[in-house]
Amino acid sequence: MANLSDISVIKEVLSRNGFTFSKALGQNFLVNPSVCPKMAEMCGADEETGVLEVGPGIGVLTKELALRAKKVVSIEIDERLPKVLGETLAEFDNVKIINDDIMKLDLKKLIEEEFSKMKVVVCANLPYYITSPVIMKLLESRLPIEAITVMIQKEVADRLCAKAGERNAGAITVSVNYFADAKKLFDVSRGSFMPAPNVDSAVIRLNIKSEPDIFVSDEKKFFRMVKAAFGMRRKTALNAISAGMGIPKSNVASAIEKSGLDMNIRAEKMTMEELATLCENL
Ligand code: SAM
Repeated sequence: MANLSDISVIKEVLSRNGFTFSKALGQNFLVNPSVCPKMAEMCGADEETGVLEVGPGIGVLTKELALRAKKVVSIEIDERLPKVLGETLAEFDNVKIINDDIMKLDLKKLIEEEFSKMKVVVCANLPYYITSPVIMKLLESRLPIEAITVMIQKEVADRLCAKAGERNAGAITVSVNYFADAKKLFDVSRGSFMPAPNVDSAVIRLNIKSEPDIFVSDEKKFFRMVKAAFGMRRKTALNAISAGMGIPKSNVASAIEKSGLDMNIRAEKMTMEELATLCENL
């Protein structure tokens, strides 16, 4: 069995397969042996759980998941990697590799087909270039999953784990707060990867809420408003919403007044409840 926590083994596997890293696919592979067991442990993988992984690379995290979970399904876009994974994960009969783009798959259908009657979690070291789209897809598809544990760029982790109303909150913070409880688990330095990226990373866990804590009668409108409000960060919510949604300023102003908010408030100062109330009054 290939000892994938040993960097010289990883290098040997890669060079034997003539593998060269693709920057475009965000290929920074983990070579710090302590990270993957910790992630696999903290994501909730156990004998009753099915784990959906995005981007297994050569399988360092996949192996740790397979050791703990009932079944692991890993989606890898790079067509050179399934062959390598066939070698590195040869000893496991509970792993399935799907050679596809995570953004193109019908994940609801996939979960139904692959994880029937299992508790399901997502665990991944995400490629930087599509961190937010992948997380938003996982959240917005309303998948029957309990939690999402992902390694992402540290600054993005701080933003996702902020609360609405805090300084580093953005539109994505509001979306994450709406669907999940976000928690930062631990930091991972850039030296833990090959090749080393220019930024540090962090592992976060999003526990999916059974339902949102705030009342929103029209979700589409709510997220349109949030996007508009945060779209022009130096503008007041009044100006940003009016410009971004194409609603006359006087209408937005009366909604702000009706919601009991300061007329000069900025989106990043607003709590989830305030955003929801404003949307209802708009
Ligand atoms: N899990 C491995 C590790 O920790 O060493 C690799 C992580 S690397 C940061 C990201 C992986 O995602 C790469 O293997 C890359 O090929 C794959 N990937 C990139 N874009 C993808 C996409 N759209 N769908 C599925 N996999 C993708």
